[in-house]
Amino acid sequence: MTDTIFAKIIRREIPADIVYEDDDVLGFRDLNAQAPVHVLFIPKRPLATLDDATPADAELLGKLLLSAAAYARTEGFAKEGYRTVINTNTHGGQTVFHIHVHLLAGRQMHWPPG
Ligand code: IMP
Repeated sequence: MTDTIFAKIIRREIPADIVYEDDDVLGFRDLNAQAPVHVLFIPKRPLATLDDATPADAELLGKLLLSAAAYARTEGFAKEGYRTVINTNTHGGQTVFHIHVHLLAGRQMHWPPG
């Protein structure tokens, strides 16, 4: 896997507005926020896309989602609601090839997405 901007954030080589961290997961604000709350949850170990995930990654994928849910509860917007998104490869709109869960909140979301 090639180095990505998110790997540099994990190594603290470039700044990020980090709002969540545990042993396995980092959460930081998206630079180009699409909602009042827009946080990206990434694994500290590299995994490029959901398409690269194997059963060995099941626990890590679960942790990403649970981290986003825990953050939403802690910040007090869980009951109002939020959206979690994983973009995968070209048609999914993925631009950074280090898997990430987008957590979007603070406004009404719409369906279908663009
Ligand atoms: P993707 O399109 O699902 O791969 O999402 C990548 C996201 O990373 C986009 O929403 C970008 O705005 C965001 N992004 C790219 N570089 C940075 C950064 O350095 N800090 C925070 N967010 C970033």
